[in-house]
Amino acid sequence: MQKSLITPIQYLKGIGPKRAKAFSKLSIDTIEDLLYYFPRRYEDRRSFSPIRDLKVGQVQTIKAEVLAKGERQSFRRRGFSITQIAVSDSTGKIFCVWFNQPYLKEYFKVGSGLILYGRIEQYEGRLQMNSPEFEIIGEDQDESLNIGRIVPLYSLPEGITQRSFRRIIKGALDEYVPGINDFLTYDIRSRNSLLNLARSLVNIHFPEGFDTQNEAYRRLSFEEFFLFQLPLALRKLKKKERQGIAHKAEGGLVNNFIANLPFRLTAAQEMVIQEIRADMAHPLVMQRLLQGDVGSGKTVVATLAAVIAIQGGYQVALMVPTEILAKQHYEKIKSQIPNPKSQIKIELLTSSINAKEKIRVLKDIKVGKVELVIGTHALLEEDVKFKNLGLVVIDEQHKFGVGQRALLPKKGISPDVLIMTATPIPRTLAITIYGDLDISVITELPPGRIPINTMHFSQDKRLKAYTIAKEHLQRGRQAYIVYPVIEESYALDIAGAKKMYEELKTNEFKDYKLGLIHGRLKQKEQDSIMLKFRHKDLDILVSTTVLEVGIDVPTATCMIIEHAERFGLAQLHQLRGRVGRGLDESFCILISDTKTAQAKARIEAMAKYSDGFRIAEEDLKIRGPGEFFGRRQSGLSELKIANPLSQMQLLKRAREEVLKLISIDPHLEARQNLLLREKLLQRFPEYENLMLVG
Ligand code: ADP
Ligand code: MG
Repeated sequence: MQKSLITPIQYLKGIGPKRAKAFSKLSIDTIEDLLYYFPRRYEDRRSFSPIRDLKVGQVQTIKAEVLAKGERQSFRRRGFSITQIAVSDSTGKIFCVWFNQPYLKEYFKVGSGLILYGRIEQYEGRLQMNSPEFEIIGEDQDESLNIGRIVPLYSLPEGITQRSFRRIIKGALDEYVPGINDFLTYDIRSRNSLLNLARSLVNIHFPEGFDTQNEAYRRLSFEEFFLFQLPLALRKLKKKERQGIAHKAEGGLVNNFIANLPFRLTAAQEMVIQEIRADMAHPLVMQRLLQGDVGSGKTVVATLAAVIAIQGGYQVALMVPTEILAKQHYEKIKSQIPNPKSQIKIELLTSSINAKEKIRVLKDIKVGKVELVIGTHALLEEDVKFKNLGLVVIDEQHKFGVGQRALLPKKGISPDVLIMTATPIPRTLAITIYGDLDISVITELPPGRIPINTMHFSQDKRLKAYTIAKEHLQRGRQAYIVYPVIEESYALDIAGAKKMYEELKTNEFKDYKLGLIHGRLKQKEQDSIMLKFRHKDLDILVSTTVLEVGIDVPTATCMIIEHAERFGLAQLHQLRGRVGRGLDESFCILISDTKTAQAKARIEAMAKYSDGFRIAEEDLKIRGPGEFFGRRQSGLSELKIANPLSQMQLLKRAREEVLKLISIDPHLEARQNLLLREKLLQRFPEYENLMLVG
């Protein structure tokens, strides 16, 4: 009989209510949570580096004995204490120091054994480790967990040492793992050469060797991928069975729209339009993700989808994350719909329209007089009711939570859904992460676009950046200057948009017209400033990241981004996408003095790549999937150790197994799948109905 893994951890030896609380802060509440709380890293304590062989700059683990200890005050900073010990093994001596942790002195006893881990530095001509991690040997009997093996190191709950944490984990493994049943069937394991669950859990914590640790890692990653994709695949299956609207894809309105476009569609646009048309014409519900780089022309594709729905007498809702974007789409789409006789009735619905107007718009939507409504979150409000919503388009989907995305389609009866994103990710990743959606990709930019010339300047070159901007302004072009924050921060030494706007206006750019835009301005003010900039009443727009999404001003050809290290890579790419929208060469100057490796890597990637797919890939590599997709795209933060980028093959395999499984047993009813079903429901109770028969 398997002991229940959802037993609260209090029942474990060594964990009282107080510790349980500390564990809970790290989301460790049950035995299962604990067993799946993986080490942060390992230390190979089967052998230690002899002190004699240590080299400056290396990060090493040593085993040594305390020779002497002492404490002194810092010469440089008053009231700042330094704890120092000298340790030696049979080959040499090294000093270790800790800053401002006077209590440490009590821990160390001359003659006791220590394991120390840290970077070897040189200080006043001798070797030294600064604030190394350490463990005192011989505190308890259980040395076999801490010495002479590959030892796990964890991010610890408060008030718990590595040693006692190891002991607790070991206790849980000993007690619970022997009876554990693997919810991945034997078939799946053997097809994919996966270690069984029990061995994997033991070896991820206390590896027999690095090979086995690796296999455990592989198995547990597979498991994560598998459990991540299974519900998505089930949801997709369920949707595929759902009757929707068979839209009428051909007709005068559609043909007219295409014939009157001011440009020729790119081949890539044509292709995704074909996919969308076919999908919309099909009687089952469309759930499609449209990926395309910044500026690839997604809006016109979405508009065409809207025209298809409208042609058949349905209403369309287009939701975007900001008012500015809503307004811009509204104007653009209005201008793209040509024939006055077939003028489509479009309305804007944001939270800033006045009460009287709002009442009218809501009523018109309700009676079906409005055919296309473009709006922000305001569309999700309860009093927005449609007569016959046939298509929902969501732009810049990453700005909305999963829950929000699901709300809008509920305002119709199984409308088709098109979701657009300008943070494109590699296709293999996309089909797994958005496993419940079909995917269309616009793979090229409209012709004639010149890549944006991206440069990295240090802060002392700022004047040069201004000079470049002025060259653009003198040719009648416009510029953006972007700051990470509104108000400057003295603590962090960051310039803010507000203050810099005043400064630039009176000094450097006093001959030009400047505007300031940021998120704390009223919507109306933001809009009017944007409009002024678009109409060239302003030369320079000083801004924060409110610019990030969608703004389309083709005559803006220069962008300066201050403190570029403070922006994410995808965000920088979005920002940069605000220039280079016309036919002139555009510049993007990233100003940053950053020293951290991560920030440097980001800025280098920006200068090197212009393709959004490539940049997203880099971003994923640099930040990891959890950060990249954000907490809001919650699914991925379920991945604790699996990395969709470095383990893409494994991810694919897991997906294939998921598809195979649900093609044979879509409701997970077969005997061998009951454990899996249980596991899935335990994790996602909301999937109950997905697996019900019918
Ligand atoms: P995004 O994919 O970033 O939303 P947009 O839809 O805003 O891009 O398109 C960017 C710009 O390119 C717009 O000004 C749009 O009118 C223009 N555009 C779209 N498709 C084409 C095309 N096939 N040829 C030329 N210009 C195009
Ligand atoms: Mg767009």
